[in-house]
Amino acid sequence: MKRLAGKIAIITGASSGIGHAAARLFASEGAQLVVSARRQNELDALVEAIVREGGSAIAVAGDVCDERLAQHLVATAQERFGGLDIAFNNAGIVGPMGPLQDMQSSDWHDVLHTNLNGAFLGAKYQIPALLQRGGGSLLFTSSFVGHTVGMPGMSAYAASKAGILGMMKCLAAELGPNGIRVNALLPGGTDTPASITNAPNAGPEVLAFVENLHALKRMATPEEIAQAALYLVSEDSNFITGTAMLADGGVS
Ligand code: NDP
Repeated sequence: MKRLAGKIAIITGASSGIGHAAARLFASEGAQLVVSARRQNELDALVEAIVREGGSAIAVAGDVCDERLAQHLVATAQERFGGLDIAFNNAGIVGPMGPLQDMQSSDWHDVLHTNLNGAFLGAKYQIPALLQRGGGSLLFTSSFVGHTVGMPGMSAYAASKAGILGMMKCLAAELGPNGIRVNALLPGGTDTPASITNAPNAGPEVLAFVENLHALKRMATPEEIAQAALYLVSEDSNFITGTAMLADGGVS
């Protein structure tokens, strides 16, 4: 039996990395998907691959900071598939890195706006749809950064990801009585375009530094993190809510 058979899901940040891997995995587990990010071409290629493999997905491109996108994603899930059971609010950016005293206010704002306000806007419109179905699962992508370790130069990013944890805890308490589970996934260093190890000026020493943070002495693949996301949105985790789940290879 497929673990997401009959489920309808929204995934943001699906054009690459963790969201892309989650879309492939959730679709292979039977979910009908609305996938989103800003880059239409990448989304179209993703949908084509999912459909080729017998899955079902629709691409809706847009910016998670745009309230109309949040509304449109939910309306698409309802109109095209009949409702919403799962939302994986995963889109995020790292933003420019550097000492806080040198940071531009606009950069601080952009990181908080995308990572935290974007998650808020998504949830704001997803929750009524989940309530209509009498339950469901909300998942947010947070990070080990700012939770397990403080990383120099990443204060805006860490603040945004810690903010997600606070919001998630409150939502879990608000929505538990309605059968809606709310959790956060905290990946460790994952080999995606957003990783600081893939920044244009990152040398081998950056990769070695990040790998060494993990007990497993390597970074995760997006597919490994997607497996943890699948667990949290599926019925395998039916009694888990309000949890910040580390998938971090033992960062200390
Ligand atoms: P990627 O850069 O591969 O993916 C980020 C995704 O977010 C892309 O699909 C991007 O699509 C989308 N996105 C970014 N900004 C916006 C926006 N304003 N509106 C809509 N979509 C947006 O990186 P990851 O897969 O690594 O990142 C996924 C999540 O995992 C992020 O929240 C990140 O913070 C988190 N994370 C990553 C870690 C890592 O080491 N890689 C570690 C811990 C957490 P597009 O550009 O097409 O809009």
